[in-house]
Amino acid sequence: MKRQLAAILYADVAGYSRLTRANEEQTHQQLNAGLDLLIEKIDAHDGSKVHEAGDAILAEFASAIAAVEAAIEFQQTMAALEADSPDAERVRFRVGVNLGEVIRDRGDIFGDGVNIAARIQELATPGSVCVSGAVLEQLPTDGSFAYDDLGYRHFKNIERPIHVYQMKLSEPEFGYPMQEIESRVMGQPIFGESVEKPVITRGQCLCGSVQFEISQEPLGTGYCHCRICQRNSGAPVFAWTAFPIEAVRFTRNKLKYYQLSLIAQQGFCKRCGSPVVWRSMKPEPANYVAIATTCLENPEDYAPTWHGGTESQLPWMQIHDDLPRTRCPESPLLRKAWESVGVTDTDDWVALEYEQASNLDEENETR
Ligand SMILES: [Zn+2]
Ligand SMILES: [Zn+2]
Repeated sequence: MKRQLAAILYADVAGYSRLTRANEEQTHQQLNAGLDLLIEKIDAHDGSKVHEAGDAILAEFASAIAAVEAAIEFQQTMAALEADSPDAERVRFRVGVNLGEVIRDRGDIFGDGVNIAARIQELATPGSVCVSGAVLEQLPTDGSFAYDDLGYRHFKNIERPIHVYQMKLSEPEFGYPMQEIESRVMGQPIFGESVEKPVITRGQCLCGSVQFEISQEPLGTGYCHCRICQRNSGAPVFAWTAFPIEAVRFTRNKLKYYQLSLIAQQGFCKRCGSPVVWRSMKPEPANYVAIATTCLENPEDYAPTWHGGTESQLPWMQIHDDLPRTRCPESPLLRKAWESVGVTDTDDWVALEYEQASNLDEENETR
């Protein structure tokens, strides 16, 4: 078998079956337009398409730089073309680029080099491009390529961990889910306590000494993989459901509030320690609270719709879904909060969380 070194590009549509279920014909047309555009970009950068399979394309290039340029240009053009489409209808590709050995046979290419490109692709936020460390080493260091480090990842049937990076596209692509939550809650009237609303769900801490009722629909539910949530919960990932603050009423004992960092507080049960509430306090106290989804009596009804804090996602913690994935430094809300306390370097966030938290402990009752 003849082995060769190649830059391998693998592209696949995120959530294709969900999009097809929603609108088969339209999705198929968008898919075709996307595949045509990708093939055009592959050709323009002297690559060659190896095969197409449904909503996926495999291509190879003699240059890693050319492969990354083709991938980035493709994603930038897709973002521009679909800018006006509703979020739920957008066909977004994930692209992975790897540099590795391939085996050429029967007009196709095989081998770990190809498998790794496909696995790396799965880590990309829909609409973006992930590359392996081998590819990154080929890219110029003059600032023409920007990227986020996603750390070393283990892939099934691949012996060595692979260093994965996500390329930054110059076009700002999509909104941050928490931003939506903020704008939605901002538009809501703040009801006084005198307005009686029907209770839609309840919740409690582990020991039951803290109990609460909720009277409005949630603003959203997300996973958080950040280091703060990991340490705070002792679990690899946390799920939060955000509610307008006036929708949450404590009916038995109040929480003790711990100043989690310069920008946020956490409410927990004084008796059993369950972390029940998270609240952003900067630039001003948020008018929504995030409740630990699993403290609700019916957590099965509050399925997360995105992943946050994925810069800290553990390599052995893989959740195979097509939900959008975002990193903390991408959050305009977190940026705004940290900037309001004079911290502009996102690398400082996590370090500061611990350093300052010990000095800022205070008792405080929200409701
Ligand atoms: Zn408790
Ligand atoms: Zn978190």
